[in-house]
Amino acid sequence: MKHFEYVRPTKLKAALDAVTKDPNAVFIAGGTNLIDLMKRNIMAPDKLVDINKLPLKKIEKVSGQVRIGALALNSAVAEDKLILEKYPLLAQALHAGASTQLRNMATVAGNIMQRTRCPYFYDTAFPCNKREPGSGCSALEGYNRQHAIFGFSDTCIAVHPSDMSVALAALDATLLVAGPKGERRISFSDFHRLPGNTPHIDTNLEKGELILAVEVPESPFSKHVHYLKVRDRASYAFALISVAAALDLENNRIKEARLAMGGVAHKPWRLSEAEKYLIGKPVSEESFRSAAGIAMRGAKAFEHNGYKLKLSPNAIVQALKTAASIS
Ligand code: SF4
Repeated sequence: MKHFEYVRPTKLKAALDAVTKDPNAVFIAGGTNLIDLMKRNIMAPDKLVDINKLPLKKIEKVSGQVRIGALALNSAVAEDKLILEKYPLLAQALHAGASTQLRNMATVAGNIMQRTRCPYFYDTAFPCNKREPGSGCSALEGYNRQHAIFGFSDTCIAVHPSDMSVALAALDATLLVAGPKGERRISFSDFHRLPGNTPHIDTNLEKGELILAVEVPESPFSKHVHYLKVRDRASYAFALISVAAALDLENNRIKEARLAMGGVAHKPWRLSEAEKYLIGKPVSEESFRSAAGIAMRGAKAFEHNGYKLKLSPNAIVQALKTAASIS
């Protein structure tokens, strides 16, 4: 591992300045992904700016929405009374996301910022456009069982690994960020990027910007929700695919629906057309099956991930059925 400088500012401005003024400085909090990347020489910052001393851990209700501090631990959010009561989809996704040990180290912002688990990205013996722009994508012709079926490009077919981010996308979260030009808000759906020609750029965060908090608006989705994660083993594995489903029901009809998927694209994949279709439909397997068909339009598989074309609609139907408590 390359030698690096380590600083631990106690004030936000000092933290922002430390990263803004040094082209190869990065923020670190829980370090559950960054340290792995540094050990393998995939990321080699000159300076780590540890933000753990900043007061960004609170989970609080602010103007009808919940504001979750960027440094709140995944375990703290998953067990928080307000989150469990009003945002159970988020709690479910966090519980599905990692082992207890990881949840106790990983922060909310770190979870959002974590990088793909494409095996070629982590193996410096192979070309990878995300690690080294212009070098090629080993997954295109390689073993691509875990890779994308939506939104990919011919430069990268990786998927985003976060479970929590899938729930946040479904719940219309917003990120409050601070940087050299001041504070701004970014809607969650605009935060992560599709690979296009720049797969090495994961998010729309600018140099020196730091996530301060995640804001999740009040919603009717506190009852009929389900986060379904399909993985190779029962714990501590990334999703092959996942579905965040939330329904607002009245007299056995759907007033509103939210659907997003993980493990299928370079970013949490919101299923907006399927959501629109479900409004006013009766709660039934037939409605859910039709919505899943709409959600899968445009999906395309590679040599080894064709199973996702069948697994995904079935998982959407199952997540909706569980959310609606029908068998
Ligand atoms: Fe790299 Fe993306 Fe290709 Fe994986 S899919 S090898 S991350 S460019």
